[in-house]
Amino acid sequence: MFRTQTRGRVGVAALASAIVLAAPAAAGAAPGAAAAPSTGGVNSAVTARLLDQAANAADAGLRSAGTHDTRVTVTRRDGQTWAFGTAVIVAPHEEDAYPAGWVFVARRERAGWRVALDGEAGFADLAQAAPASVVSPRERALFTEVAPTYAGGDYRTGMRLPYGLGQSWSFTGGPHGWAGSDTPWSSIDLAGGDQRVLAARGGTAYTMCRGWIRVIHDRGYATDYYHLWNNISVNGASVGEGAYLGDTGTDVTCGGAASGRHVHFALRQNNAYVPVAGHNLGKWVVMGGGGTYQGYALHGSAQVNVGGALYNHGALGLNQALIDANGGGTVNRRTGPGTGYAVAGSAADGATVTVSCSANGTTHAGRWGSTALWNRLSDGTWASDAFMWTGSAGPINGWC
Ligand SMILES: [Zn+2]
Repeated sequence: MFRTQTRGRVGVAALASAIVLAAPAAAGAAPGAAAAPSTGGVNSAVTARLLDQAANAADAGLRSAGTHDTRVTVTRRDGQTWAFGTAVIVAPHEEDAYPAGWVFVARRERAGWRVALDGEAGFADLAQAAPASVVSPRERALFTEVAPTYAGGDYRTGMRLPYGLGQSWSFTGGPHGWAGSDTPWSSIDLAGGDQRVLAARGGTAYTMCRGWIRVIHDRGYATDYYHLWNNISVNGASVGEGAYLGDTGTDVTCGGAASGRHVHFALRQNNAYVPVAGHNLGKWVVMGGGGTYQGYALHGSAQVNVGGALYNHGALGLNQALIDANGGGTVNRRTGPGTGYAVAGSAADGATVTVSCSANGTTHAGRWGSTALWNRLSDGTWASDAFMWTGSAGPINGWC
């Protein structure tokens, strides 16, 4: 069971433009439109694309960016025809400021370099056309993947908290913007433990900037990790869940502010920041508060507020659910999908169960809403979907 806590997906898509892809301005190339080729070297062509982005950004700090605020790193080339790398607009060194970053693919055409940043129209086409020496087959699959969409939303991430399993780190900041007060509230702050920041899920990793790693995952998701010390240097490397990315730190090389060692962890989907609230990390559902940096997290009925410690239970599998008895205790497991079937056992609040398939039965109301859906668990017993968090309002592993 799942209920959208704050805003719907449509709103998310619109708000996601806040920091990086602002609404097209009257002048200049509209973000999302394929840019015209640019003459000169590839660095200057990518820089020109970045300045287009900056000119159209909602964030005032980015809007004032000039050439000296851009960082273009060409990491791969194929002769004089293709280039790939990262492109960053650095931000001022102050609170409520964070850099914006992309990966790019560029192809030299007769009229000059054609550049596409991830998220722009034309990016997938260029990634598809690039030779494997410039865009690897794994990257090509990622960059051209059409992320799944489900009516009612699908908030499954398959992610752990970005540190060691079994560790408890301090939840120092609830949902807030990538740049702080901006929307969407994509980010949370975590500190403490052994200070080792690890990939929340496997994926393809990029060093965007010193202190800043981005991992692009399956299903359209990506995660950003900022303020790192000793960050790894990666350029499309495959990383597994739990791979070391760096240590918590206060690095602000590319902009922003950090008052103490932590990781600023942000969730992205389909090349834009998305609200982190409602998603599950390490078997905790992140919940937003009334203002930025507020909120709490839920593991079943167990609640940890900002300032508390989040125990990393590991990733909730895409076909798994967290039992949520909506107040504690246990949930009945039955021999069939409804209260007319015999009780066959119980499941404790906070327990992880694996869902084999789903069917409709008797209707119940839990923390996340009311539903007639029941899930058959891997041991053959059934439990009401009202008393578990799955990340979806519908079946997560098909109908029985
Ligand atoms: Zn933060």
